[in-house]
Amino acid sequence: MEVFDVTIIGGGPAGLYSAFYSGLRNMKTKIIEVQPVLGGKVNTYPEKVIWDVGGLPPLQGRQFVQNLVEQASIFSPTICLNTKVEQIQKQDNFFVISTDCGEVHYSKTIICAVGGGILHPLKLEIEDSEKYEKTNLHYTILDMQRFRHKTVLISGGGNSAIDWAVELLSVTKDVIVIYRKEQLTAHEAQVEKLKEHGVQIMLHAEIKSFLSNDSDMIEQVIISQNEDIYAIPVDEVLISHGYQREASLTFADNIQPLRKNDYYLVSQGRCMTSVPGIFGAGDIISYDDKVGLIVGTFQDAVLAVNNAKLYIDPDANEYAMVSSHNDKFIEKNNELLKKVYSKT
Ligand SMILES: Cc1cc2nc3c(=O)[nH]c(=O)nc-3n(C[C@H](O)[C@H](O)[C@H](O)COP(=O)(O)OP(=O)(O)OC[C@H]3O[C@@H](n4cnc5c(N)ncnc54)[C@H](O)[C@@H]3O)c2cc1C
Repeated sequence: MEVFDVTIIGGGPAGLYSAFYSGLRNMKTKIIEVQPVLGGKVNTYPEKVIWDVGGLPPLQGRQFVQNLVEQASIFSPTICLNTKVEQIQKQDNFFVISTDCGEVHYSKTIICAVGGGILHPLKLEIEDSEKYEKTNLHYTILDMQRFRHKTVLISGGGNSAIDWAVELLSVTKDVIVIYRKEQLTAHEAQVEKLKEHGVQIMLHAEIKSFLSNDSDMIEQVIISQNEDIYAIPVDEVLISHGYQREASLTFADNIQPLRKNDYYLVSQGRCMTSVPGIFGAGDIISYDDKVGLIVGTFQDAVLAVNNAKLYIDPDANEYAMVSSHNDKFIEKNNELLKKVYSKT
């Protein structure tokens, strides 16, 4: 039986940075991720440009995920993809982690980094709408170029929908936003950008049906707005109505961490949960002044890992040393600096 020091459930930004940091703290580390790829929610916005991570130039979600994975791989953690953690139990001094593929993993500590859980986009409730998913009905944008010089109708008024609308302005011919409520709920600054570009925004409006051609390409979207019905010609349709969250994993009865709204793990301070040995990082953990952004996941990861280290070895340093003082980087620094100086 192979017992890991720390098993991280979820391979999003919180899980990936935890993996890097636990390697730095000499812990035998495993990541378990239900999706076939690492990166978490950021994979739902691969083309979006991320501006607000300290020390990084603006970069696309796709590139950001690559960077995170590269960093997480530095200390060679074990990575299990396509594996959903279903249940966690406690046995003697370690946790037993059961997965949907029948595997069982053993670990001294757990960092729960399941973020928004397993996300499924909320689909349009219109008969036969699935058939258009093969043509021009989208629930996310995987390749911005597809939308170049096109008229795109976006349904949704939250942050995701409006972020997409703003991103698309640079490539599309026209963007039209429709939303069923009386006001968009996205960040004001993003809404302002749409207004500055004269984007048509239809409120109190909903998609009723599609008119398509013989190849099942949507050509017109039938919209109801108040009492009126409109047929809007389009090239592509993007639906951004949010996500349905699958409950993700369960804990055995004797190790139920305190939760908020049945989902979030409540931090008892420094990303510890109410169960000794189980920690939380990223969007799953809740505490006062929590920053629900990528930068917040990094701070959580550091706290969770440092406390996991102390749980295993109460005599360990409370914090890792800064990079410059850490022996683990001496060889790697030499290699990196050699490359830098060979270029000058
Ligand atoms: C459209 C959009 C745009 C955003 N833009 C920005 C931005 O510009 N800047 C910013 O800072 N933040 C942004 N965010 C927020 C940011 O993406 C999140 O804060 C961040 O992804 C949280 O990371 P996480 O690792 O906690 O969770 P997640 O990214 O949700 O990762 C959790 C991972 O856990 C996995 N998982 C869940 N349950 C299980 C299970 N039972 N077994 C195994 N694996 C499991 C999931 O598959 C997922 O990969 C944006 C979010 C969205 C939706």
